[in-house]
Amino acid sequence: MKITSIKATALKNKERSLSAGPGVCMVEVETSNGLVGIGEACAQSENDEAALATALILERGIKPVVVGLDPVNPRAIWEKLYLETEWFGRMGTVMHAISALDIALWDLMGKALGVSVSRLIGGRFRESVKTYASIIFDMENFEAMASEARIWTGEGYKAVKFGWGQTRDTAYGLDAEKDEAAVKYLRESLGHGVDIMVDVGRYVNWTPAHALEMARRLSKYNIYWLEEPLPQDDVEGYVWLTDKSPVKIATGEGEYNRFGFKRLITSHAADIIQPDLGKAGGITEGMRIADLVQAWNLSLVPHGFSSAINVATNLQWISAMPQATLLEFRRTKSPLLQDLIKSPFVAKNGNLQIPDRPGLGIELRDDIVEQCRVKA
Ligand SMILES: [Mg+2]
Repeated sequence: MKITSIKATALKNKERSLSAGPGVCMVEVETSNGLVGIGEACAQSENDEAALATALILERGIKPVVVGLDPVNPRAIWEKLYLETEWFGRMGTVMHAISALDIALWDLMGKALGVSVSRLIGGRFRESVKTYASIIFDMENFEAMASEARIWTGEGYKAVKFGWGQTRDTAYGLDAEKDEAAVKYLRESLGHGVDIMVDVGRYVNWTPAHALEMARRLSKYNIYWLEEPLPQDDVEGYVWLTDKSPVKIATGEGEYNRFGFKRLITSHAADIIQPDLGKAGGITEGMRIADLVQAWNLSLVPHGFSSAINVATNLQWISAMPQATLLEFRRTKSPLLQDLIKSPFVAKNGNLQIPDRPGLGIELRDDIVEQCRVKA
């Protein structure tokens, strides 16, 4: 079997808001025996340039390197692409592109061998996984936000995460009193049987001192973790904060490859490590990152906010990783997440079944691909 072509497609949800979710670059790897592998890069930007740039790197840069290669060599192909692109890559858009291709190669290998990716990467620790409902703060209407959360707890979710806010002007994190009041409201509204996570995101810039003050305030409401309270590159700040914080600190969705995660993990910059395989380096790199997390005895909770391909990838990955027992499951409206595949993921009591079909175990819906396609 040889790779004959790769096709990259920029996709987005048409609704434009901070809660609409990221753009995506989907890749399809075609082979001489007719099999097609599917992968995805999470490539968010406000004007679709990230997804389009990822597609350009795949079609113009990566395609000539991989056409003609045997695809059943994802790790060797990963290293080849990393070296070929080192001068302008290593992180950023190039790593998004390599991530998408790598995921597609694992999907392809599973299809070629007739086994799921989770079995290819070592075997299954679990057949289902607990998820948390991931939604957005509404800092202008606490009751609207609480009632949205109650929809999910009513369906059996035991954990809900609230992120960053509806707009930059009404973001979470701009006003300490209001930030505390929002979490107090949620705790009183949802009761004590539900885990509440707070995701500050990156539209505000907290200092370590302010983040520690907020961690202490929010600890009164027993939050399960405080996510991305600091800028992504303030690793020293994260180390300081994680050492002192009364609540667990989570970060990692912005980080790239084993080298970036080595910095975070070996310095204990957070308690919860959150790679997004659609940018961190795909499944090949995800295995290395998970091994580092386990060796340093931290928790791995994959980031997932883009599409059903990303959910499928996460499910296969964490099925085979011993210490990953919780998964982000975005619950804001998104055709890319809810409609893109023929058998959409549906949580029962907040748990997702992990497919054990060949590859990632998904089939795309062409009508949704067309509906979400970004024109170059
Ligand atoms: Mg986040």
